[in-house]
Amino acid sequence: MQIIELRIKGKVQGVGFRPFVWLLAQQHQLQGDVKNDGQGVVIRLAKIEQNALQHFLNDLHHKLPPLAQITDIQQQQKHLKNAPQFDGFVISESEQNAMDTQIVPDAATCSVCIADLFEPQNRRYHYPFTNCTHCGPRFTIIKAIPYDRKNTSMANFPLCSDCAAEYKNPADRRFHAQPNACPECGPHIWLQDYHHKIADNETALKQTALFLTKGKIIAVKGIGGFHLACDATNPIAVQALRERKHRPTKPLAIMVADLNSLLDLSPEEKNLLTSTAAPIVLLAKHKVPQICDLIAPHLAEIGVMLPSNPLQHLLLREVKRPLVMTSANPSGQPPVLDNQSAVENLQNLADFYLCHNRDILQRADDSLVRAAFDGIETLRRARGYVPNETELNIVNQKNILALGSDLKNTFCLLKGDKAVVSQHIGDTANDKVRLQLEDNLTLFQQIYQFKPEIIAIDAHSGYFSSAVGKALAEKWNIPVRTIWHHHAHLTAVLAEHHYQFERNEKVIGIALDGLGMGQHHQLWGGECLLVDYANCQYLGGLPAVALAGGDLAATQPWRNWLAHIQQFVPNWQALATHTCAELNWQPLAKAIEQKINAPLASSTGRLFDAVAFALGITPAKLSWEGEAACQLETLAMQSTFINQSAVEISTNLPVKMPIKDDKLDLATFWQSWLHYESDAANKAFCFHWALAQGFAQMAKMNAQKYQCKTIVLSGGVMHNQLLRRLLKVQLTEFKVLSGHEFPMNDGGLSLGQAAIAAAHY
Ligand SMILES: [Zn+2]
Ligand SMILES: [Zn+2]
Repeated sequence: MQIIELRIKGKVQGVGFRPFVWLLAQQHQLQGDVKNDGQGVVIRLAKIEQNALQHFLNDLHHKLPPLAQITDIQQQQKHLKNAPQFDGFVISESEQNAMDTQIVPDAATCSVCIADLFEPQNRRYHYPFTNCTHCGPRFTIIKAIPYDRKNTSMANFPLCSDCAAEYKNPADRRFHAQPNACPECGPHIWLQDYHHKIADNETALKQTALFLTKGKIIAVKGIGGFHLACDATNPIAVQALRERKHRPTKPLAIMVADLNSLLDLSPEEKNLLTSTAAPIVLLAKHKVPQICDLIAPHLAEIGVMLPSNPLQHLLLREVKRPLVMTSANPSGQPPVLDNQSAVENLQNLADFYLCHNRDILQRADDSLVRAAFDGIETLRRARGYVPNETELNIVNQKNILALGSDLKNTFCLLKGDKAVVSQHIGDTANDKVRLQLEDNLTLFQQIYQFKPEIIAIDAHSGYFSSAVGKALAEKWNIPVRTIWHHHAHLTAVLAEHHYQFERNEKVIGIALDGLGMGQHHQLWGGECLLVDYANCQYLGGLPAVALAGGDLAATQPWRNWLAHIQQFVPNWQALATHTCAELNWQPLAKAIEQKINAPLASSTGRLFDAVAFALGITPAKLSWEGEAACQLETLAMQSTFINQSAVEISTNLPVKMPIKDDKLDLATFWQSWLHYESDAANKAFCFHWALAQGFAQMAKMNAQKYQCKTIVLSGGVMHNQLLRRLLKVQLTEFKVLSGHEFPMNDGGLSLGQAAIAAAHY
């Protein structure tokens, strides 16, 4: 007997795909079966006409459930001696073998589940853990594959008879929804203080809302970690949160109940906010009414998200006001995941704890994105996007593990042409973050059954992530490839764009960031490079300037200002005396002169710090990374030049950053900039302009020399929208690529490292 076998790959498990196929097959009156296997889903059909099959395949592609995604369908006619006797169409038992199928990210509560939540007759009315195959937790509750309830943190909650009936019924939208639960059989919430439980369930919810309206700070357990919540309209509560968190100015994310709480949103912003990933979206401040000034001081944008789980929906409706929702972690540490650590570690931060008894197995911070002028821009990639897989346009037979960077650490597993980048893990300077990196590495290898054959690490030998990579390579006796930081930045963008090089083609890259290891152990951060996947050649960039005081330069902008004027401005002593008489600058100037604790680096980040300090807009000591640079961009956006054309600006502005040999001439820049008399906003703007013009010139010159048609922008500084726009405005004759799905900051580095390593083996 003849059958037709369809093998389907993609996101097809745990997303309601089999019941969808089952329903579709009923509608098409087909005979056969559908089941999961290690590769995805297999559909077997009793032989049918080609037309009927085509019709079925069309529907399969076009009527997919919301979280499903098909990447490939292979079709085969089979002659079977012992062919199965199909009686109608059924869902068969899963086969268990090596998995090569995608794990699905956590998805925000769907509209049908929200309706259940607020329908008083529904048995899940106000139940904070309702979900279905179209929504709910996935990645954060999984500890092994296949994605079955027994391999998730729902294993401790046996289904009641009603839930079991839904689970077994292909016509129900909770068919095989692994986290399916109800008040009868599922997890529950409670409110407690440090010592005692205060209330359960509905009372806990009501009491939490009441405390929030009274200005209390509550630790709320979510999907991928705890948040600290407080009333975003209450300056006293927000100030208390800032003081307890030792976070004087770093912007705080907020959560609003729905789109009606926001104004003037673009279609792109609406799409991002209501997407299944439900990230924090950076919005212009005027779009977010009612918010107190302390949420994002000195900045033009506020990070806003909508509720992404039922508990958040319930809470936001109950409090009837926006809430601050910031990750719950003592300074420098990763967010807490379990109830006990929350109570212990957050006792100086939270007044109360809204807990639940479903364990979080994978940490997933809120993702951070922006609907930028040139498309979606991802600044932090975690909940809702991880572990989506990315297909690269490369030839690779090996299993490659790339360890990323020490700041904004992520790692990447590359198998063939499929890359999976981990969630944002954070700054490995902290011991607990290091532990999480190692735990996550183990877990990812376990759930993907991934055995590395090559390890890729950053060229900075002092990085913890590099040390982890080397130790693993030694343990498994496999090769390690060290990779220049900025080559990885640029390659991450190429990889994300599936860039295919023509024969002998190279592209020009502009990589601007704080600091990274480059050629001959030089510290880079403002480079123009000639690259392909395998190679990277230095073309030019910013001159190296002392990092006065080593690491202190990253947090004290005046040190960079002093180093810059000392190197580039004649009679700088008079300027120093005039500008910072109260700072003890003379000993530092001497140390720079004598090259004591003053390593050289061509850092764009430190140049931003120096300019911000010269304008008097930055504190003596920064309290968060990028503070001075973000303030400088915000100020520049208020400039009268903002709406002028490139031609107008270039004729009106006396400040330039010309090219001298292969370097940007910072002496000319500083001297013309210091003499340029205008308000602070115009001075901030013309710094951006001069920098963009300098790098655009350098890129164009080299593109001509090496016959390149494509220019790639990357590095953390490229998240500066104004700078990126000014660069793109001047490079219109080229194909210009920048990062969208992956961060251009160090969060995207591991993807680039993996692609480079693949090009070498
Ligand atoms: Zn749902
Ligand atoms: Zn139940």
